[in-house]
Amino acid sequence: MTLRVLVTGGAGFVGSHAVAALLARGDDVCVFDNLSTGHRSAVLPGARLVVGDLADHAAVDAVLADGAWDAVLHFASLSLVGESMREPMLYLRTNVGNGLHLIDRCIHHGIGRFVLSSTAALFGNAPPGAIGETAPIEPGSPYGESKAVLERALLWADRIHGLKSAVLRYFNAAGADPEGRLGEDHRPETHLIPLVIDAALGRRPPVQVFGTDYDTPDGTCIRDYIHVSDLAQAHLLALARLDHGSVTYNLGNSAGHSVREVIASVARVGGRPVPHGFAPRRPGDPASLVAASARIMEEAGWQPRFAALDEIVRTAWAWRVAHPQGYAD
Ligand code: UDP
Repeated sequence: MTLRVLVTGGAGFVGSHAVAALLARGDDVCVFDNLSTGHRSAVLPGARLVVGDLADHAAVDAVLADGAWDAVLHFASLSLVGESMREPMLYLRTNVGNGLHLIDRCIHHGIGRFVLSSTAALFGNAPPGAIGETAPIEPGSPYGESKAVLERALLWADRIHGLKSAVLRYFNAAGADPEGRLGEDHRPETHLIPLVIDAALGRRPPVQVFGTDYDTPDGTCIRDYIHVSDLAQAHLLALARLDHGSVTYNLGNSAGHSVREVIASVARVGGRPVPHGFAPRRPGDPASLVAASARIMEEAGWQPRFAALDEIVRTAWAWRVAHPQGYAD
């Protein structure tokens, strides 16, 4: 069955890959994006782009009224842990304010299915080990807090209004479209894998490792990197699962890699050393975030295609080599 889907933030990194997955199965896709961090050319031909801001309530109502939407996928948000530690109220006001308003208007317009991009940053300094869906929510940053509020709101939207939702808690999205059409292009870039790749390519100064005194085997932070196309596929499967009721899934590869291991992977894949140095910890960074993702595998049949770190890095490397300046626009 093909769906009519509205994708907020569909010009961004994860959103654009989700749009690619929706288009590939023949869905009718409309992207709503203010292009503040997204890119016009990250919206593949086949999807309609409405340039608009979620804070513009008239624009939100106009797009929601513009069709019988089967689902809204909500990616558009501020998403940097470090920035949220400097601008907490900006993060809470923007992410919570825009998100609550969108949920409210979806209910008003009779939309039955909603997918929220949530985050591992909900879990703050979780005890060592893989984190399942029932782990306590104790955000370590205003960014994580903003998503926690939206998760709670969706619970009530279901209980009272019957809005079915999929809450997808991304661990570290990385990699690029295996067909080479889409990739990661944040400005400024703050994410580890693209920075490490650019350092290896000599396009940036040496990458700085933030903290070497964490309570981890090599002293650097451990993250669970998940390929963005695997993440995109999870959205399709979670959407289908909503016929059985709302769901919450933690999405990673159930394997952690330290910052030093990421640097080693890029050196292997790129076949050259990675110039790097060492810097203090970045505020808000938990020592370790690793997903337990069995639930979505068992309930929705999700299977990652690019589970190995080197495979993830390989697709990211290919995109950055092919697009030295990122997207054209
Ligand atoms: N990191 C780093 N140097 C950088 C950027 C990131 O050491 O220049 C570390 C960061 O502290 C974290 C991991 O790499 O432990 C992943 O950070 P990223 O910003 O990519 O994603 P996040 O975990 O914040 O979502």
